[in-house]
Amino acid sequence: MTLFALSLVVLAVATAPIVLAWIERGRPRRLAAWAPLYGVLAAAAVVVVVAEVVRGRSPAAALGNYSGTSNGRFSWPVPGGHISQYFHYGHPGIDIAGRTGDLVHAAAAGTVIYAGWRNNGGGYVVWVSHGSGIYTTYNHLSAVLVGTGQHVSRGQIVGRVGMTGWATGPHLHFEVWRGGVPGGVDRRVNPLPYF
Ligand SMILES: [Zn+2]
Repeated sequence: MTLFALSLVVLAVATAPIVLAWIERGRPRRLAAWAPLYGVLAAAAVVVVVAEVVRGRSPAAALGNYSGTSNGRFSWPVPGGHISQYFHYGHPGIDIAGRTGDLVHAAAAGTVIYAGWRNNGGGYVVWVSHGSGIYTTYNHLSAVLVGTGQHVSRGQIVGRVGMTGWATGPHLHFEVWRGGVPGGVDRRVNPLPYF
């Protein structure tokens, strides 16, 4: 997202002089001299914006074909549960409201790399590696129903909704890590494009 914001700034900087010159209509030669540079900058910015949009909208490509069924996209981990908090700065995941005991399903096939208690606020958690550097984590669980090292299929039950750890009400805090293992360098991304 930072790259996206940066590209917008570059685009604004690159096009501002053209707009200003057009408004002034006073120094066409000056504009003509700098026009190629502005053009290059604007073109570069457009390329960056497009690349960023494509990258954000086609996570399925990064997911590869490990998920077996469907088109490679995630399945909803808490059927019927609605989003109570979105991904934003300071909240690196989505909250899916539910009732304590509701079943939590793996969003995609993979291998459980951690299942148990964490002192980082997650409470009882399950971490699943999906390959291609993609991981999902399921937090605040009231019950963990898989074990570390276990293979899970897409939609398989991994636990139950709860409010263990730092949670004020029963919900699933769901995260997607891309290019970094959970618990390591923060590589959390917005989960929504993966569904
Ligand atoms: Zn949360």
